[in-house]
Amino acid sequence: MSIHVETDGPIDVVDVTDQVAADVSGIASGVCTVFVNHTTAAVSINEAEPRLIEDIAQFVETLAAPDGWAHDELDGNADAHLRTSLLGRSVSIPVRDGELALGTWQSILLIECDGPRDRSLSVTVVPSA
Ligand code: ZN
Repeated sequence: MSIHVETDGPIDVVDVTDQVAADVSGIASGVCTVFVNHTTAAVSINEAEPRLIEDIAQFVETLAAPDGWAHDELDGNADAHLRTSLLGRSVSIPVRDGELALGTWQSILLIECDGPRDRSLSVTVVPSA
């Protein structure tokens, strides 16, 4: 299963929890993995509170200086690659009774570091035996 997201702006944080939840309905129990199929976007789990979303975007900018990297000679986006290396490209979430077993304040967040772009995430569900 895949999720497609159009991001907005150079750095963007998009809540994809509802799209992932739709992919696990009907699964009694298991593990759901969400994997970002890109080198300049990341995925994380955190609270989707609007001010925190702003804070995350601001924090991401501090993770790497905007220029001065060797890869910039190729396509000028080394900062995005470096930021996503720190943030990570997959999360695993338990599934119970057809629902994501997330904590009350947990949401699945796509973190764009080189947008705007069309992004895809792979959702893989492994049912428990
Ligand atoms: Zn690049």
